[in-house]
Amino acid sequence: MLSGRVALVTGGAKGIGKAICIALAKRNANIAIIYQNSESDASSLASHLNNEYSVKAACYKCDVSSFDQVKETIKSVKADFNAIDILVNNAGVTSDGLIASMSEDSFDSVISTNLKGAFNLIRHVSPIMIRQRGGNIINISSVVGLYGNVGQANYAASKAGLIGLTKSVAKELGKRNIKCNAVAPGFIATDMTKNLEESALLNAIALQRVGRAEDVAEAVTFLATSSYITGSVISVDGGLSI
Ligand code: NAP
Repeated sequence: MLSGRVALVTGGAKGIGKAICIALAKRNANIAIIYQNSESDASSLASHLNNEYSVKAACYKCDVSSFDQVKETIKSVKADFNAIDILVNNAGVTSDGLIASMSEDSFDSVISTNLKGAFNLIRHVSPIMIRQRGGNIINISSVVGLYGNVGQANYAASKAGLIGLTKSVAKELGKRNIKCNAVAPGFIATDMTKNLEESALLNAIALQRVGRAEDVAEAVTFLATSSYITGSVISVDGGLSI
């Protein structure tokens, strides 16, 4: 159980992030939801977590790619919850295109949100975890970061970068009892993948089904409660990558 623990989840209002918030609240963690555009989804989720699981939940509007916005948001979360024990860097975007014609903005925007966003959060949360003498950081990467993908050079670079970030933070903050791990989902049914053709991929997935947001949340909950796992990458892909 995570009673009394505080979990901060970026992109927590919908998709995989929402499932992570619910899974952690079921374990009695208090939840700080970071959203950018999904304000009504974030506030109804906070009410739901509060009513259904009797945990404290609040939401904060913040663009994770902004160093200053993240700094101010973390100050507010710390003031409201008095601690941050679990950080889940889940916010992410795609802007697909072939490398030979990819715009500079497509590359920069994906790196800024997916990779720099995680840096911004870890940068501002880690001093709190150091003072608390412990914490669990979980970065949502992707199988695309491990194996690459046609039309997703920007996204793959951001997700591979997250793995280097994860392992470095694990080495640097291990002596402070701060664990840092990554989860690499395969094809998960959310808004991000709603325009992709499922049937073409099913044959490549050993379990012969696309993933659910809850499948990813299960791995995140495991890592959030683990005491001796750090620097690992857990694939949650139904066997897509074997
Ligand atoms: P989604 O439904 O599109 O959710 C993306 C989330 O990221 C939204 O909650 C969005 O918040 C948030 N976000 C985007 N830019 C942001 C910013 N600048 N600041 C703050 N929040 C921002 O997609 P999803 O499938 O749940 O994806 C969640 C994570 O899993 C992403 O990192 C994604 O790369 C990763 N992933 C997904 C799959 C998949 O198959 N779905 C596979 C591998 C990895 P608002 O809605 O509030 O704007």
